[in-house]
Amino acid sequence: MAGPRPRPGILEIEPYVGGKAAVGGGAPAIKLSSNESAIGPSGKARAAYEALAGTLHRYPDGGCTSLRQGLARRFNLDPRQIVCGAGSDELIGLLVKAYAGPGDEVLYSQHGFLMYRLSALAAGAHPVAAPERDLTADVDALLARVTSRTRIVFIANPNNPTGSYLPAGELERLHAGLPPEVLLVIDAAYAEFVDAPDYASGAELAAAHPNVVMTRTFSKLFGLAALRVGWLYGGVAVVDVLNRVRGPFNVSDAAQAAAVAALEDVEHQAAARAHNDRWLPWLAREIAGLGFKVWPSVGNFLLVDFPREAGRDADAANAFLEKHGVIPRQMHAYGLPDSLRISVGLEQENRRLIEVLQEFAGRKG
Ligand code: PMP
Repeated sequence: MAGPRPRPGILEIEPYVGGKAAVGGGAPAIKLSSNESAIGPSGKARAAYEALAGTLHRYPDGGCTSLRQGLARRFNLDPRQIVCGAGSDELIGLLVKAYAGPGDEVLYSQHGFLMYRLSALAAGAHPVAAPERDLTADVDALLARVTSRTRIVFIANPNNPTGSYLPAGELERLHAGLPPEVLLVIDAAYAEFVDAPDYASGAELAAAHPNVVMTRTFSKLFGLAALRVGWLYGGVAVVDVLNRVRGPFNVSDAAQAAAVAALEDVEHQAAARAHNDRWLPWLAREIAGLGFKVWPSVGNFLLVDFPREAGRDADAANAFLEKHGVIPRQMHAYGLPDSLRISVGLEQENRRLIEVLQEFAGRKG
């Protein structure tokens, strides 16, 4: 007898596999596989988290009131236009669930963040990938793929895993070319790391247009990936929809408290940025100096290409690094089998990575 069958599309989903945390045998490893904060969270955020241990029997504030107020203060936004989620992953999934279904299309760029495709499949919608130019989203290619069935366009700005971004003018051009009934989601998970003068997080576009939202996260610069806190800023209509479809208590109390404290600790935020500003270019120079192609990145990670030669390719580099206790991220799931993605680590981790890569590069094939 046949058992229950999931909706069409569900079994096409390749479960998302996060970056490895340890190498064989559980030996201590340098984890550069998930674009986490090298320096970790603010001590104040940790203290706020720990202080909540006494009330584990209480439900959290389902409306994330203090957190939304904190975000509103910090980023000069209206708290009624903010909704929080269990990581921005949850918000991405909820947007697709609420705005797209069977027969609808969800559009993103070729090497856009994986969750766009996976969330589309989970909702029964059809994922559509537009080609890129030089691993950067191409506004014309995206607009050319908009059809009467397109419901959502996702753009990660900057994008993971490529590290590239669309300048403000290009984002505006993308929005201007979309019909008003298409939702443009600007995923700005790495916004806090970006210095480029022509960069825009999407907040201004989201403030001006009811069909634009911006998503952000506490998982990257704020160093709270384990706690799963993301947020979305957009028009009240989209926020209202998300409040209908989200779980009633989707962000734990301890996570909310830690996020509020992390927001207030601007010194720690500055330290996290300064660390990245110092080590991202250092790593890019060192790795390029070893003869590998390093793609320009404005995030806290680098995409590195390896030659297609047996023993010297990306899989060989990955195995060599892992054997020496350094864990990068393989990029097969993104259709980039010749590349590895490497997050910025602590000073000694970065130096060790370069030592091991030097050894790999100098080795006979
Ligand atoms: N968007 C992008 C572009 C990301 O790289 C990530 C994390 N890998 C996320 C969203 C999701 O982050 P989180 O769910 O931890 O907020």
